[in-house]
Amino acid sequence: MSLRSSAIDTTTALKNTSGVLTLRDSGYLSREPSVISIDSSSAASEAAPIQTPTVYNGILQRKEGSIVAKKSRDPAVQLTDARTLPNQAMLSDAARASVTAAEYAIQAAFQAKLQSVKNVEWENHVDNTAPSLNFTFVSDFVLGEGVYRPEADAHVGCETCRPNMGQNIGCEYPRLCACLEYAAVDENRLQPGDQARYVQYQKDQEDDGYLADSHGLPKRFPYQRSKDPQVPSTLMKFYLESRYPIYECNLNCNCGPICKSRVVQKGRRVPLVIFKTANERGWGVYCKEQLVKGEFIDTYIGEVLTNEATGRREMLSAEDRASYLYSLDKFIGDDPDNDLTNETCYVVDGQYMGGPTRFINHSCEPNCRQYTVSYNKHDLRIYDLAFFAVEDIPPRTELTFDYMDKDEEEEEIVRKKREKDAADPKNHDKRPCNCGARKCRGYLWE
Ligand SMILES: [Zn+2]
Ligand SMILES: [Zn+2]
Ligand SMILES: [Zn+2]
Repeated sequence: MSLRSSAIDTTTALKNTSGVLTLRDSGYLSREPSVISIDSSSAASEAAPIQTPTVYNGILQRKEGSIVAKKSRDPAVQLTDARTLPNQAMLSDAARASVTAAEYAIQAAFQAKLQSVKNVEWENHVDNTAPSLNFTFVSDFVLGEGVYRPEADAHVGCETCRPNMGQNIGCEYPRLCACLEYAAVDENRLQPGDQARYVQYQKDQEDDGYLADSHGLPKRFPYQRSKDPQVPSTLMKFYLESRYPIYECNLNCNCGPICKSRVVQKGRRVPLVIFKTANERGWGVYCKEQLVKGEFIDTYIGEVLTNEATGRREMLSAEDRASYLYSLDKFIGDDPDNDLTNETCYVVDGQYMGGPTRFINHSCEPNCRQYTVSYNKHDLRIYDLAFFAVEDIPPRTELTFDYMDKDEEEEEIVRKKREKDAADPKNHDKRPCNCGARKCRGYLWE
């Protein structure tokens, strides 16, 4: 997982226009295939160039999750000088509307949307706003055009595993479980006879990355579970601290449902609350219950798009959009055919569809982190982005993760860089990070 670092560069198209589409802007947009189709034919047919920026009071249509403006053919529709917005008609309409009634209607509409989501509430003790209604709660990835994902019954499972193997530890029997084929090798359990294999494995790892052949070597199991059923499974320290992918068992494994390697696939069990933050950081998320270090919280879901489709959407978007895009790029370099690149990997877009984790805020010193979890070891393109607590988190504490995934940096180094960046005038247009952490890097994006 990594954030699309290119997101900012491609969103500057509309930035300097104060929200106004000028003719020059429409020309810029038309160079790229895009979901926006601004009809500029009237401009081309004018003999004299139009001096003032104008917008049509035209027809808005929904298309691929975006709003497309079309020119009206009705001669009664007037051109509006975009520099004088809002115009007189808009202002008199607004004066007649009841803001409070509208806010309550929006709140009720958001509440109705949330009804379908189990164990998630929302609250706002700061103002009367609700999260955007241009967002739909979904329970799984929604595949966009050109995105392919194998069905769950096609996953390769650990067919030779039995729940009682290895003195009843099942898939934890670290050399045998086929689901752990690409899991991290456990150096602590190497036997003298493993040495030659291990040396070869290390060489292969340099060539093949996460998919190095580690057949027969002991592997690191991802989770530990207490005998007390009330205590949640937790991610092992090695995985919590490393970026190694986590492999869970699947539908086609013979270990059965009691296997300890089934955590993220069972979904969220903790109650979450989406709330309005008091310090201008928009909406945030907290858990009503205590979370323990290593506990699974929820996954990040949304529309899965091709990179191309993401690029088209980015042309239309504001800067904040980058916060909702995650490239599924974990396995780039591991693909034997080298088909998987930064250009061909899929992107998860949580802006318009997703789950409650879409509202989790950034912090430079977060209490959660996002991990790669796969149930299908041969699928390098689609896997889960799973949030785990990286420390014990008391109830009602805001959950955060690092959008830039760099929270391991030393505090002293971060402080020096922050002070240097703050003094550099070229950073003054950047979006400040208000996370308040000692390790705050100062700006949300690089
Ligand atoms: Zn197994
Ligand atoms: Zn398995
Ligand atoms: Zn298993």
